[in-house]
Amino acid sequence: MSARILVVDDIEANVRLLEARLTAEYYEVLVAYDGPTALAIAAAEQPDIVLLDVMMPGMDGFQVCRRLKDDPETRHVPVVLVTALDGRADRIAGLEAGADEFLTKPIDDVMLFARVRSLTRLKTVIDELRVREASGRRIGVIAGAGSRMGGTGGRVLIVDDHERQAQRVASELSIEHRPVIESEPEKALLSARGPVDLVIVNVTARSFDGLRFCAQLRSDEATRHLPILAIVDFDERPRLMKALDIGVNDLLSKPIDPQELSARARTQIRRKRYTDYLRDNLDHSLELAVTDQLTGLHNRRYMTGQLDALVKRAAHGGEPVATLLIDIDHFKKINDGYGHDVGDEVLREFAVRLASNVRAVDLPCRYGGEEFVVVMPATRIEDAERIAERIRLHVAGSPFRVAHGTELLTATISIGVAATTGPEDTPDTLLKRSDEALYEAKSSGRNKVISRAA
Ligand code: GH3
Ligand code: MG
Ligand code: MG
Repeated sequence: MSARILVVDDIEANVRLLEARLTAEYYEVLVAYDGPTALAIAAAEQPDIVLLDVMMPGMDGFQVCRRLKDDPETRHVPVVLVTALDGRADRIAGLEAGADEFLTKPIDDVMLFARVRSLTRLKTVIDELRVREASGRRIGVIAGAGSRMGGTGGRVLIVDDHERQAQRVASELSIEHRPVIESEPEKALLSARGPVDLVIVNVTARSFDGLRFCAQLRSDEATRHLPILAIVDFDERPRLMKALDIGVNDLLSKPIDPQELSARARTQIRRKRYTDYLRDNLDHSLELAVTDQLTGLHNRRYMTGQLDALVKRAAHGGEPVATLLIDIDHFKKINDGYGHDVGDEVLREFAVRLASNVRAVDLPCRYGGEEFVVVMPATRIEDAERIAERIRLHVAGSPFRVAHGTELLTATISIGVAATTGPEDTPDTLLKRSDEALYEAKSSGRNKVISRAA
């Protein structure tokens, strides 16, 4: 995964060193030697990550970070602050300035690439969300939910057999999250299948193989997407590299720095929420695309697709397809007499009656306004007529309870029935015959079923 990284440092040698290391890993590198230039490049070039030195003359790293996070054009770009080795105070100031990550000088390659990879993944998700939100807002589906997704209040599972360390991690995280500790991997695997936003695994645990545990999380469908933060020992390079290979999302070195722990937990939880949101939203927009929002029935678009396939099959020697076109009689009078809301209630109640009076294979759909279509696979016109009559009777025979059950209202419907007869039929000819039959039902008095053979 490649990314564009803006490196900002006032000392040229530092910039060149980072540039060389990042370029060797095929990242694209932009450079700036002072704050104002960094801001200009960030706005113009929209990098995927900014690696920002804290100590710079003039505008320091905190100021640059704050300016980046204040500007809507650059707010979403992750910022990694590069601090001095014992930079506790710097880290706190950095968090306040809105930094997403920290690296300490001298920069360790493994940590550098672990951070860059983790943040690139986060950025990819955020970018996708921003695009979707922009187009979602255009079609009025999504209401800018992305901005509500913070990195706090997360459910964190700590998997560690080192009791004191686990307690320290839990108590630090409990300031803004809900941590639970599990010391046995089997139980932890079960817990991870529940509602969890982040798993912190001690891969240096003595009583179990932490790397194996991470691999198990990654291979189980239910936990595959969970972010993993691995607690590692920096002196154990092979294990550390292995953890990254297995796909842990980020590393935390022992002894654990509380600020670093909270910053990393927050980044991972935020990413998980964005990803979940995207996934839910995709499901939701697929559902929106085929469902009528008022009645919950299939919509016209879905019906058209289904009818098309069924009619084609019928034309090639398959079973006949029948259609009912249903229109509520004098619906305008219901709206005028009781109000539009009551009209909506009638539509919803009618949809329920319709759905419960057709067979499981039939497709009841809202065609538009107060018109409905039922597509009936493998149905002869006589059978369709019989079912239509049953629906008509059920509607006319028992009044609709509306306005919170305070009023009873009688409604009737008219239905036009048609069925395919041969290879020349198309969805259009079929619906047209249903429509002609419906017109006849209306003009001959309403509350009627009329069918039209070809
Ligand atoms: P007819 O018996 O000839 O079908 O008369 P009608 O009044 O039912 O037919 P018309 O097509 O004149 O009026 C349909 C009305 O349905 C007009 C429209 O405002 C109303 N309508 C369409 N969609 C909705 C809706 O979603 N909710 C409500 N409450 N009314 C709707
Ligand atoms: Mg009508
Ligand atoms: Mg109508």
